[in-house]
Amino acid sequence: MKFEKVIGQHQIKQKLIQAYRDNRVSHSYLFYGSPGVGKLALAIAFAQYISCTNKLENDSCGECPSCKKFEKLIHPDLHFVFPVISNPKKKSISDNYIQEWRAKVLEDPYFTYNEWLFSIASENKQGSIFADESVEIAKKINLKTFESDYKCMIIWLPEMMNGTCANKLLKILEEPPQNTIIISVSDNSEDILPTIRSRTQPVKILGIEDNDLKDAIIRQYNISDQMASDIVNISNGSLFEARKQIITNDETEYNFAKFTELMRVCYGYKIPDAINLSEELAKNSREKQKNFLYYSLVLLRENFAYNSKLKQVIYMTKTEIEFSEKFAKFVNQANINELMQIFEEAYYHIERNVNAKLVFTDSSFKIMKVIRKN
Ligand SMILES: [Zn+2]
Repeated sequence: MKFEKVIGQHQIKQKLIQAYRDNRVSHSYLFYGSPGVGKLALAIAFAQYISCTNKLENDSCGECPSCKKFEKLIHPDLHFVFPVISNPKKKSISDNYIQEWRAKVLEDPYFTYNEWLFSIASENKQGSIFADESVEIAKKINLKTFESDYKCMIIWLPEMMNGTCANKLLKILEEPPQNTIIISVSDNSEDILPTIRSRTQPVKILGIEDNDLKDAIIRQYNISDQMASDIVNISNGSLFEARKQIITNDETEYNFAKFTELMRVCYGYKIPDAINLSEELAKNSREKQKNFLYYSLVLLRENFAYNSKLKQVIYMTKTEIEFSEKFAKFVNQANINELMQIFEEAYYHIERNVNAKLVFTDSSFKIMKVIRKN
């Protein structure tokens, strides 16, 4: 990964390059900062730059034999340590998950700890850098370099390290081996053993610059300039936070579309349509179903307020208000409590794993009975 592939972070890139030029590369770094700002990407780009045999002015070349191997993350002098899950079938060490790791990093190096666990575990599991890893770390650190002047070990999330392993790492840092650079990449540097922390050179990675983050999400998600600016404003320079916002926005649009559809079919007594819609909603994840019901409750309350001319308490988007101009008259004193109760009960049942298709079908029949009351 070349530096140019890392979003923004111009100052840090310059500092790292300068450190190399001045022959001041530290044997142990701690890149720390919030998730989604590009710490792992920076660590890999820096390692690639150091190892590149044909450096450009401000970046690695991307084409020399060393860069070619780095671009696939298969350079023999590049080592990774990261949290894995316990697995009775194989030893819980990073090397046993290296294929998945390379695929994940090459696809997008801005993933979070949870996203990583999702990609290696089929169920809820706790990740860790287990005791077994300490043997691997020692082995790799003692290797002589194969092709480069330096070997580089990138430890992703050292705060997830088990005690035995952390002590091993501490011993290594106390007597740093020749021509070795260890870059620890941490989301929560406070959780790292202070004795380890004190033996690293800390590099705080701040948020991605607004303009760079904005360009990146427009490119990746093809969203409007205005929406991108709004999202950047609340993302604290984190690509992860920005993505969360984009997904939430998408879900709001979906929930709005399904709520209006549900109200339409219920008002029209369209029973087959109501059943189809219930089936569709039931296919979503429980979380998404709950979000839909919660969103519906909020929108009902807003529409009741709109109908009651309490316009100062309305928090709706432009599209939602346009809908309310026609719909709000159906939400009134005679049915608001019953409507709210239908959605609250549905939420309660979904949360307790009642069959979702049943819950949505039952709810839509109940809505049919009360939606025309006034
Ligand atoms: Zn190169």
